[in-house]
Amino acid sequence: MLLGFGAALAILLVVFLRREPAPPEAGIPLALAEDRAARLQDVKYEVSFKIPAQRDQPITGKLIASFVLSEGSRPLAFDFSQPPDRIKSVKANSRDVKPVIGDGHIVLPGSAISGGRNQIEFEFTAGDDSLNRNDDFMYTLFVPARASLAMPCFDQPDLKARWRLSLEIPKDWTAVSNGAEVGRLNAPDRTGLIFDETAPIPTYLFAFAAGKFSIETGVRNGRTFRMFHRETDPDKVRRNAPALFDLHARALAWLEDYTGIPYAFGKFDFVLIPSFQFGGMEHPGAIYYNASGLMLDDTATQNQLLGRASVISHETSHMWFGDLVTMKWFNDVWMKEVFANFMAAKIVNPSFPTVNHDLRFLYQNYPSAYEIDRTQGANPIRQELANLNEAGSLYGAIIYQKAPIVMRQLELLMGADAFRDGLREYLRAHAMANATWPDLVSVLDVRTPADLAAWSRAWVSERGRPTIHTELEVKDGKIARLAFRQEDPLTRGLIWPERLRVQMAVAAGIRTFEITLDGAETAVPDAVGLPAPKWILPVGGGLGYGLFDLDPATIEYFVTSLHEIKDPLTRGAALVALWEELLEGKVVPARLLKELVTALPKEVDQLNTQEMLDDLRALFWRFTGADERPAEAAGIETMIRSGLEKAKTTSAKASWFATLRSIAMTTETVEWLEHVWAHDVTIPGLTLAENDEADLALDLAVRDVPDADGMLETQLVRFKNPDRKARFQFVMPAVSHDAAVRDAFFESLKNVNNRRREAWVLDAMRYLNHPLRAAASKKYIHDALDLVQEIQQTGDIFFPKRWADATLGGYQSVQTAAEVRAFIDRLPPNYPARLRWVLLSSADPLFRAARILN
Ligand SMILES: [Zn+2]
Repeated sequence: MLLGFGAALAILLVVFLRREPAPPEAGIPLALAEDRAARLQDVKYEVSFKIPAQRDQPITGKLIASFVLSEGSRPLAFDFSQPPDRIKSVKANSRDVKPVIGDGHIVLPGSAISGGRNQIEFEFTAGDDSLNRNDDFMYTLFVPARASLAMPCFDQPDLKARWRLSLEIPKDWTAVSNGAEVGRLNAPDRTGLIFDETAPIPTYLFAFAAGKFSIETGVRNGRTFRMFHRETDPDKVRRNAPALFDLHARALAWLEDYTGIPYAFGKFDFVLIPSFQFGGMEHPGAIYYNASGLMLDDTATQNQLLGRASVISHETSHMWFGDLVTMKWFNDVWMKEVFANFMAAKIVNPSFPTVNHDLRFLYQNYPSAYEIDRTQGANPIRQELANLNEAGSLYGAIIYQKAPIVMRQLELLMGADAFRDGLREYLRAHAMANATWPDLVSVLDVRTPADLAAWSRAWVSERGRPTIHTELEVKDGKIARLAFRQEDPLTRGLIWPERLRVQMAVAAGIRTFEITLDGAETAVPDAVGLPAPKWILPVGGGLGYGLFDLDPATIEYFVTSLHEIKDPLTRGAALVALWEELLEGKVVPARLLKELVTALPKEVDQLNTQEMLDDLRALFWRFTGADERPAEAAGIETMIRSGLEKAKTTSAKASWFATLRSIAMTTETVEWLEHVWAHDVTIPGLTLAENDEADLALDLAVRDVPDADGMLETQLVRFKNPDRKARFQFVMPAVSHDAAVRDAFFESLKNVNNRRREAWVLDAMRYLNHPLRAAASKKYIHDALDLVQEIQQTGDIFFPKRWADATLGGYQSVQTAAEVRAFIDRLPPNYPARLRWVLLSSADPLFRAARILN
């Protein structure tokens, strides 16, 4: 049949008029999120899941979304990043609808919805990607926009919703979620659980974990805390549980006092997850932690104890910063992280009165922040973000470590009271809602005469750090001029306003000058006329941030006599500054290595000891040529073994032992370690825990000790804990002396299903690319870097950077550096800019090592 012209036109017209806007692109584009935030209000989800006992059986679900729509004539997109056949049915306001499903969205036609309240009902099969399913437990992890991998929803942070969850789980499982359990139905082999409605929370904070967990309960200050865990060693639980409840209670009390706002999310549970991807995740009412960070062994180092207190305080701080007030979009994710870290430091300090907290702040933040900021891959703290599927590449040391340094400078600039009052006002104004960085700046700006806009531009909106030159002129043995000159290495002419505490060693002792850098050059007139100093440290008190180009006499003093500096914080700040100079090629690595071998036995502060041991490791593996290592090893090992013997605490001994295990190269030390592993030799004052022994076995295997295979098999039998055993079994092939086994293992990692346990994968990649295996393993680099883009799509937020770090951590040669450089240079122009930054920052230590060793 042929249509007449008029009929065809009529049809065309109808098609044209009825044509609805194209469905949104994949991911969560900003434009979609803004449109929905403007149209939707009062969102509620009622969601239920049926969880089978077998991890390979599908989880089915039902979700009812209810919301008020301001405008109903246009299509409305839900997010669901799974194949269309996972959606079994969709009802809009009780009527069946046929939505357009594709590109990660379910688009309801405008005809199916209307202004006012709507109710949409989905029956679906959940995607497993963000459900972390194991044999006898599972947990959701939806940050930043991975809820829509599991279920249909509006997967953006500024559509907060009240959630009601119900679960059907195997009979011998238990479960925890944001809301309290309010109902339970027992069937012969299944249990039904109903959880209370939550306060308004975004999709990325909605969570539940289900499986075989034990539960410990503690009451502190009238509040009940519950801890879900899978630890099988009852002594370990008994030893750790009270401290974990105490730490949470103390953090809560401190935050309620500081913010003036009570905890807003009702009950307080936390879940210890073995090999969890992050240190912790701040789901209100159900915080997750990496079990190994909280359940500490007897051998825990002081750093681990502090780290545990910090991560607990960090996640608890999020209950206000992130959960009560949430960023509007993930470009401001740094705000919740900076305040969580910033508050954590304030909370933890009083609990560790013997610790030098300024020194700890220095080590916790500066080296990691510099690790990114000194590279061509440096990124700004606040970045544009067009689509949430790129949010993962925002996370990293700039957010977690540089931002707290910057925030401390802001607090110094404003004064602590004005700063706190500003934060209180900000939290009150946006409670249970969302806010942006400009919202906070506007609150703070009225409380300070400083130009916060200019400050924010240099520190928050732009990438990189200043270079600050010490300009010292000495005449007739006296200072004629002292000034600090700022330079923008990226030649944008930026000025970074910051407070410095300049310290100077003169004959009479240490002189200190408090100065504020607020222009290109800042003179220190009070120093003129003083005798020529032994050294000048612009970063006294661990305050200043940047690349400090020290004067030559100071570098020479530090590299020969660091151990002569009396004050531990000054010594630490000098060490951090000296490390930057080393990376700039201004210090010969062998000289610093020698100074550390002298300084370590004299060091009295364990934080300094730890940093020096870390630097020693890096100097040995990265900045000592492979041919020169054997000659250096004997002296270093002797010094470490003596340190191990003399160390007074278990945690100090554990630090020394970990370094020895990492460096061991001489036959004598390797054999001694084999005896330790075989239980022929014990180390007085140090009992090795299950994982210590396992790591020792892996370190010995990578050294190709005789019968390494037998040792690994024996280790496998020794395990009492199934989770730790599973991790070991996964990592084993990565240390095999058989190159074919290692090759096959690396090949297997190209399949996303073999990369699900990210912590295991990273351990394995570090061993696979161990410096001792560099020659045989460098062939993996190309394919491993090639995978980074896929890993960003399939993995959790920290995985791409950590994968790249683990890939490149073992290499130092000029040739390898050139190959990696060529790989990055050959990336196509449309390669995501932020991922290119990730590669550049991960490759930076390799590039520098090759330059320095050449
Ligand atoms: Zn956090």
